[in-house]
Amino acid sequence: MFDVSNCELTRYPSKVLATKSAKIDKIDDNIKALAEKMIDIMVEAEGIGLAGPQAGVGLQIFVISLDGTREKARVYINPVVEGFGSMTTMQEGCLSFPKIFVNIKRHSQAKVRATDLDGNEFTEEADGLYAKCLQHEYDHLIGITIADRMGRLGRIKFRKELNELRELYGQK
Ligand SMILES: [Zn+2]
Repeated sequence: MFDVSNCELTRYPSKVLATKSAKIDKIDDNIKALAEKMIDIMVEAEGIGLAGPQAGVGLQIFVISLDGTREKARVYINPVVEGFGSMTTMQEGCLSFPKIFVNIKRHSQAKVRATDLDGNEFTEEADGLYAKCLQHEYDHLIGITIADRMGRLGRIKFRKELNELRELYGQK
């Protein structure tokens, strides 16, 4: 269990970011409150996506709003994302990695199957920014972050920033 009032943005190298999230069994009021809280955190931090571990909760949920507004925010529960199509590189940031923007190679298209807050299952196909965002958020649910995706060169390039984050957030 978790207390939504304790949820806050987690930063690298917080342990929950490196942990595989658990499936959500039941969409109860606590999960609905969590989704609202996650949208708050995302909008306030001016992000376009946020996954459960980034709110400190190791559950399979993420929210996406491609224009960063609350109105466009959507909730994905127990999502499964599969990339397909060609591999393309896009510069990505992550709210859990402030000041780091790194080129990451991913599929240019993606399929998602998830459940919404009303308990209805839906599937979608995405391309462009949406496809990249789905794959990025899904990574969070399996304990993978941009630090794992940036490769050796990225880790060298952002050594200073990563070290700063470790100093600031390494104890949590
Ligand atoms: Zn992220």
